[in-house]
Amino acid sequence: MAKYEVISIGGGPAGLTAGLYTSRAGLKSLLVERGIVGGQIVNATLVENYPGFPKGISGAELGSLMHQQAVKYGLEVVTAEVTGVAQGQPYSISTTEGDFEARAIIIATGSEYRKLGVVGEERLTGHGVSYCATCDGFFFRDREVAVAGGGDTAITDALELTRHAKKVYVIHRRDQLRAGQVLQQRAFAEPKLEFVWSTVVEELVGDKVLEKLRLRNAKTGQHSILEVGGLFVAIGLMPNSRSFFDIVDLDDAGYIVTEETMATSVPGVFAAGDIRRNSPRQVSSAVGDGATAAMSAFRYIQEQRNEIGTTSP
Ligand code: NAP
Repeated sequence: MAKYEVISIGGGPAGLTAGLYTSRAGLKSLLVERGIVGGQIVNATLVENYPGFPKGISGAELGSLMHQQAVKYGLEVVTAEVTGVAQGQPYSISTTEGDFEARAIIIATGSEYRKLGVVGEERLTGHGVSYCATCDGFFFRDREVAVAGGGDTAITDALELTRHAKKVYVIHRRDQLRAGQVLQQRAFAEPKLEFVWSTVVEELVGDKVLEKLRLRNAKTGQHSILEVGGLFVAIGLMPNSRSFFDIVDLDDAGYIVTEETMATSVPGVFAAGDIRRNSPRQVSSAVGDGATAAMSAFRYIQEQRNEIGTTSP
């Protein structure tokens, strides 16, 4: 079984930063990622709010640079799915590419946007369909766009979009918003917002880019067409939880509960980035979490070594 000091699970900005820090600190480090290294940002056309890139940078390039930098300092990366973590010291991590041992684990599996799951959504994502108004709103200057959802994110996104778009429709499946009162009041006072109540999006239509939405009124069953150049899907997030998470404490929504140090309820297991409770879900905050988790893992391993040193004959 290959032995490491730290294993990071998840190859987004949090996991890559953790890997950079632990490998640069001289700890034998492995990162396990089941898909593309870089995480969610690889889908962002342009990242304009990550410090150090005043002209912005494509998400794919940013992810690739983070990957290169971590590998340069010795981080090993394996493409595999983690299937289980056996408690104990060292931890035993089973993956689809074999088993590994580690003294500390950093879970950085992130979260993913909940999808509408309708025809055209996957094909038109990045071509008029977005899950992040902060990232992509700028591209819809003076256009008509729609937001799907009725929670805080949908209303925050809709208000954010009024800074760019000519008109913003909010399509909500019920006739009442879930969003907080303050946001609701601001939304109802915003002349660029129009609410489409009790309505679900049934199909996204467009050849190369989104052109229109096929809608259905949830009360009457009547169909209608709404012509928009953009659709922002804001119907919640889902933590990228795995079955092995049952070793750590989770909140009701399935996010990992951490301390300021990124420590979880299990000694030697840390969590960083979107997967932790109350994450601001930004690349910058994920990077910060990754660094914090790595430094905590380093301290944990040092303490373990000291304990072994004092108790060994
Ligand atoms: P959320 O509160 O879970 O709201 C999701 C919204 O999407 C709900 O209106 C829900 O409709 C709708 N929805 C869910 N599944 C759907 C589907 N399949 N089709 C159509 N609509 C669907 O998620 P969120 O807005 O992302 O917020 C997540 C958490 O972050 C919340 O705790 C929120 O308070 C917090 N947050 C806070 C702020 C802020 O304070 N400014 C900003 C963003 C997020 P129903 O209402 O009918 O269930």
